[in-house]
Parts: sequence; C-alpha cells; structure tokens
Amino acid sequence: MIIIQSIQEMQQAIVTEKKNGHSIGFVPTMGYLHEGHLSLAERASQENDFVVMSVFVNPLQFGPNEDFDQYPRNFEQDEQYAKKAGVDVIFYPSIKEMYPNEPTVTVKVKRRTDVLCGQSRPGHFDGVATVLSKLFNIVMPDRVYFGMKDAQQVAVVDGLISDMNFPIKLVACPTVREEDGLAKSSRNVNLSETERQEAPVLYDSLKKTKEVYETGERHAGKLKMVLKENLNDRLNLGNLDYAEVLTYPDLEQTDRCNGKIIVALAVKYSRARLIDNIVLDEGEMSC
Ligand code: AMP
Repeated sequence: MIIIQSIQEMQQAIVTEKKNGHSIGFVPTMGYLHEGHLSLAERASQENDFVVMSVFVNPLQFGPNEDFDQYPRNFEQDEQYAKKAGVDVIFYPSIKEMYPNEPTVTVKVKRRTDVLCGQSRPGHFDGVATVLSKLFNIVMPDRVYFGMKDAQQVAVVDGLISDMNFPIKLVACPTVREEDGLAKSSRNVNLSETERQEAPVLYDSLKKTKEVYETGERHAGKLKMVLKENLNDRLNLGNLDYAEVLTYPDLEQTDRCNGKIIVALAVKYSRARLIDNIVLDEGEMSC
C-alpha cells in the first residue's frame, strides 16, 4: 500500500491501472478509521482490482460552529488499518492541495437536503457533493462505496452520480455496529463515559419502531410517534435534533409507508452529534 498526497500523482496512478485493464474501487472517508470504514474497503477489495481510500477532513462540509477542529484524526493508525483491509492507495491530500484557491465553482444540491441532516446542517451536502465531484475526477473509480449509516449522504450521492453523469456504480453497504447496537462512528470517541452508556438508546428506539412497523403499522405519523416517545423517555444527556419517518431515497414526507421508508434520528451530546437510521421496505428488510 502506498500513500499519495498529490492530485496529479493520484491521477497518473489511476491512468496506469486503467491501461492495465484494472477496475478501480473507491472509498471516500474522513479518516479515524473503524470497522465501518473497513467493511467498505474490504468489500471494495473483493469487487475491484485496485482500491483507493481517501482520507480527507473536508472543511467545506462543516458549518462555522461545527466540529471541524475537534474531528478526531490519527493517520498512522489509519495507514495500518487500511493496509489490512486491502487498500492499495490512501489518497491523503492537504487542504491546500484540494482547495488551492477560493473555489470558482461549487456544487449545490437541490433535492433530498431540506430534511434531516441537510436541515440541521445548512450547506453540509453542498460541501459533500463538491468534494466528491473533485474526488471522482481525481480517482475515476468504477465503483464507489458508501455506508448506509449516512443514508441521506447515499441518497445525495445517488442524485449526484446520475444527474452529473459520472460513470460510476454506487455501492451502499450496511451499518456496522458495536455489540450494544451503537453505530460505529469516528465521533463516538468524543462521547463522555455516561453519554456512551446512554447512546445505545438511539438504535434501540429504531428497533422498537421497526417492531411496530412489522406488526403492519404503515401510518408514518404513528411510527414517528413511537420513535419520538422511545427517545424522549430514555434520553437524559442527549438532546434530540430530529426524529423522522420519510420516503427513501427521495426523503419526502408521506402519510402511508407503502414503499421504501427511512426511520432516522440525530441526537446531540456535549461534544458529538450522533446519527442513525434504518431503511424499511415491504417484503425486504435492508441495512
Ligand atoms: P466518514 O469518515 O464518517 O465520512 O465515513 C466514510 C464512509 O464510511 C461513509 O460512506 C460512511 O457512511 C461510512 N461509515 C461510517 N460509519 C459507518 C458504519 N458504522 N458502518 C458502515 N459504514 C460507515
């Protein structure tokens, strides 16, 4: 495994791989890797000849009062983990390499962002779509791997790839969890001990909502009430940011949950904002 920091070198390496007829799998991350990220890399390495993982904490997707500075970083550990997961290149550019000047062009996401994290974090998905457009042009992957932990991101990337005609297949992978159900996240290290003890309540409330859905309840308002009641009864340290039941991937309000729906929530702790979701589909349970 090698580390590449320059855009030009990265593009050259890809051109060489493509000349040799190799398929390219790409896993974009912000580093501080855990088993969630590694599951994407392992899958990418099973399905492609050459795997690139980017490690870049993208300032464009953080709001002015968000945790850009507090976001955990440990590149040496990332290197060891990525190598074991079958990554061939870590693309590790500096901010200056990615944004040498104030950008002339950025990407604006028009749909799927007026709810959930898009509503709580204005401009976040514009920053995500902008950096991904750059990374797609740098890595030129055949397949790109994203986690359903960030289901709204998957919905936005799905729109980005199809609207901008990137010749890339999007592969959405299931959420990897701790034994107590908490979704693995780089931000979990910023939870206090007592917050960490409370945090499994998030997934537990999603499971309770799924149980009610499985009894045949299809009224979105009722499912949302179950979710909110479960969270409000059991959250002491965390503050509920949102709890929603929406169509997926369009992320629209609905009365009846007949097609694919997402049950999603975000909770703010003192130094970490956690998100989680489940996608439910009649006849098929996913992620
Ligand atoms: P991040 O470094 O948080 O930007 O995440 C990079 C990629 O890893 C994104 O596609 C995330 O959805 C994915 N990811 C993060 N946590 C998990 C998890 N617990 N399970 C599966 N994928 C994850």
